[in-house]
Amino acid sequence: SLSERLGSIFERLRGRGALEEKDVAEALREVRVALLEADVALPVAKDFIARVKERAIGQEVLRSVAPGQQVVKIVHDALVETLGGAGQDAALDLAMAPPAPILMVGLQGSGKTTTTAKLALRLEKREKKRVLMASLDVRRPAAQEQLRILGEQAGVKTLPVVAGQTPLDIARRALEAARLSGFDVVLLDTAGRLSIDEQLMAEVADIHALARPIETLLVVDALTGQDAVNTAEKFKARLPVTGVILTRMDGDARGGAALSMRAVTGAPVKFVGVGEKLDALDAFDAKRMAGRILGMGDIVSLVEKAAEDLDLEKARRQAKKLAKGAFDLDDLAEQFRQMRKMGGMGAILGLMPGMGKMKKMVDAAGGFDDREIKRQEAIISSMTKAERRKPAILNARRKIRIAKGSGTSVQEVNKLLKAHRQMADMMKKMGKGGMKGLAGQMMG
Ligand code: GDP
Ligand code: MG
Repeated sequence: SLSERLGSIFERLRGRGALEEKDVAEALREVRVALLEADVALPVAKDFIARVKERAIGQEVLRSVAPGQQVVKIVHDALVETLGGAGQDAALDLAMAPPAPILMVGLQGSGKTTTTAKLALRLEKREKKRVLMASLDVRRPAAQEQLRILGEQAGVKTLPVVAGQTPLDIARRALEAARLSGFDVVLLDTAGRLSIDEQLMAEVADIHALARPIETLLVVDALTGQDAVNTAEKFKARLPVTGVILTRMDGDARGGAALSMRAVTGAPVKFVGVGEKLDALDAFDAKRMAGRILGMGDIVSLVEKAAEDLDLEKARRQAKKLAKGAFDLDDLAEQFRQMRKMGGMGAILGLMPGMGKMKKMVDAAGGFDDREIKRQEAIISSMTKAERRKPAILNARRKIRIAKGSGTSVQEVNKLLKAHRQMADMMKKMGKGGMKGLAGQMMG
């Protein structure tokens, strides 16, 4: 597996300080192979790797995991992001006056009709919607009958079949029937083709124009790999696809199609089909899919744990220093790093009651603005070790050097030093008076 391959490459890197460019590059070559093996389209894989590389270089090496595993974790997180984060995207948008039309499109055999019934069942059961399904497939003789039978199995209503109607007639009739009978959702299942052709596209575009669906869901067979990507590209060019459903993920499709889909259509994957039965439809889970693409079992949780341990260890070390009344610029830099990591909620804030005063100080030091924090970090990293430990030695000449080195000004250096002094002061009080004393200080 990918994790094993990376493991051996990185064994020798244990104990180093930060991930270096050539280490990262080596690991990413393996990741790239894994992505391609998982059916990710080449340009998508390339683009993705470039972004991960930028992010990985310079990251601190965690002691208790191999650096290769750490890179895998970085890759995993980037994958989750690219695939659509925590999955709020997966929900269907039904915010309109009912009935909400949902249009199902895709090639023949991709699983549209089955997925229509699965989705209807899910909406009825989980979201308590009243759903009407209609098959607009007048090409295959048995298509409308297929949906009717599935509807019976699922206990979902289907539009009665009327011989001789065009897809547009049926769509019109379905919308009208749904309106009259108070349905919440109308699922329109369309006819596919074996491959994309202009006639199919024109037909689907006409149906779209008539039904004005709130969701246009593209159903693609994950097993078809690169073909699925090409199909998606072509549908996207003609229709405002709002979501993708990947079917046959119960087979040995490795999930790379999910990544490509997102990149090619810009639309989120909303569901995955995982079998022929009507309940075999899962909400798309970016984390699970990322794990599947990388085939890496529990590396992610391992690395998450290691990162937590690292932070804990640092926090413990800092607490010790604080208790002794020492809080140097390295500690401040660490606080900045934590702030950035937590998206503005500094660890230090979390530790303390009475946020108000603290917030003022943080603002004085540049606030929570990410770029501003990076400037502050740049100032600190332009200092020598000795200067960071003992800021008192910073004279005018040194400050000029630091300002130059960090691309800032002496005023900014002074501002940072002032903020640091205030914090150090407060830390000292905390050390003496304990939390009670500090709370009094800050509330007062
Ligand atoms: P359509 O031509 O796009 O309407 O495709 P169908 O809905 O008729 O599906 C074609 C075949 O794929 C049927 O035999 C389905 O049972 C099967 N199928 C659909 N979705 C899945 C899935 O997620 N997993 C598996 N294993 N089979 C599926
Ligand atoms: Mg069908």
